[in-house]
Amino acid sequence: MTARILVVDDLAPNVRVLEAKLSAEYFDVISANSGPEGIKKAESEVPDLIILDVMMPGMDGFETCRQLRQNPKTRHIPVVMLTALTEVQDRVRGLEAGADDFLSKPVNDVALFARVRSLIRLKMLMDELRTRRLTHGLDETLEAPDAGDTGAGRILLVEAHEHSAKRLKSYLEGVGHVIEIADNSEEAIAKARREDFDLAITAIDLGGEDGLRLCGQFRSHEPTRQLPLLLTLEDDDLPRLAKGLDLGVTDYVVKPIDRNELAARVRTQIRRRRYHDQLRAMVETSVSMAFVDPLTGAYNRRYMMAHLERKIAELATNGGKPLSVMMLDVDHFKRINDTYGHAAGDEVLKEIVRRINASTRDLDLLARFGGEEFALIMPDTSEQNALSIGERLRLQIGDASFNVPNSSEAMKVTISIGITSTTDSEQDSGQLLAKADTALYAAKQTGRNRAVPASTIDLPPPLAANG
Ligand code: GH3
Ligand code: MG
Ligand code: MG
Repeated sequence: MTARILVVDDLAPNVRVLEAKLSAEYFDVISANSGPEGIKKAESEVPDLIILDVMMPGMDGFETCRQLRQNPKTRHIPVVMLTALTEVQDRVRGLEAGADDFLSKPVNDVALFARVRSLIRLKMLMDELRTRRLTHGLDETLEAPDAGDTGAGRILLVEAHEHSAKRLKSYLEGVGHVIEIADNSEEAIAKARREDFDLAITAIDLGGEDGLRLCGQFRSHEPTRQLPLLLTLEDDDLPRLAKGLDLGVTDYVVKPIDRNELAARVRTQIRRRRYHDQLRAMVETSVSMAFVDPLTGAYNRRYMMAHLERKIAELATNGGKPLSVMMLDVDHFKRINDTYGHAAGDEVLKEIVRRINASTRDLDLLARFGGEEFALIMPDTSEQNALSIGERLRLQIGDASFNVPNSSEAMKVTISIGITSTTDSEQDSGQLLAKADTALYAAKQTGRNRAVPASTIDLPPPLAANG
């Protein structure tokens, strides 16, 4: 993993030591020697992680962290505070300022690097989601949330000791979360599969069972793969922490647990989870936008072409079942627009798609081919069957009138249809569509509001492959 880390510390020797250690792990290091300079570099260089000293003259680390979190350009960058301060109150202050972790010196290198790697992994995942959104042409940005309150979360608490379980539950309920307790791994996995949680808190020692093994199981099962995991552990378990972080634990807290520290860490985890979910949902919608015609919800032409090619290729191995292709075009659609307005025309297109989808199978694929022209791909359908389907669609559109938006008037809409069919896995997709289009043209020529199979007309000589 290569990543860029910004080290902010007023003492040059501290910077040099960290720089040496991080470079030895192949991280790229940049540095700043004051809070304001750190903020400026964070903005201009956008590092993958910031390691921030707490005690600095002028603007201290707490204030620097708060400002980084308030700034939309830097608020998604993870921050680790590194300090000589060891009091719980200082740690809570750091976490509340928005730091992802607060490590006291002397810092164990293994723990530090594991922490750095785990935070950078998370950030890269988010970056990936953000860039995918951009490549899908969506430029509206989803800002990372600020360090403010995220509201109540649903938390799965996995703890074998009843006393600890009760105490943690009361701490968390005290700040508004909803807690579900499991006292062993099996129960935890079952609960996490059944219900949607924002966070799982797991003890490293589950009364004879290994909490890290449970973390590994959460990570390897699809429904819990992205679930944030907060590990609770004793001081003497710290040597195993690095292993846990590499397994995918996203945060940890050392016992005896301070309620404010727990609250701050839980809040950070839930905030991240929500942001991640939002980003993912937006990527999913943008992916669907790349395939779907936004007006009608039918597939778009590009998607249909790829689909048609797959279906033609399948003909080689599907035992001779024919594939049919239907082209449908609205009759005199221009007149509809001219008479009732463009908005009414749009409504007609949507209603046509609704009617076709309602009376075709799920494995048929309807695409908007152009303005008021549609294509329907029907696997395992002979030309004869396609013709009866075409007749049915023609009547479903032509027989029941359409409503004109904002008016009690009803309009009549008809469509013309051209049909062709093939069993040839070597068939060129463009030529197949051209054949259906020729049949459609024949339907238009012979009076419209009809379905014509290609086999009944004299086709012109085959077109060139890309024609
Ligand atoms: P024909 O029966 O020969 O198909 O005649 P037509 O009027 O349907 O065909 P023509 O190709 O002459 O006109 C199609 C019209 O469809 C012209 C265009 O402005 C309109 N159109 C294309 N896309 C849309 C759209 O998204 N919404 C609306 N309302 N109209 C559209
Ligand atoms: Mg038309
Ligand atoms: Mg047309």
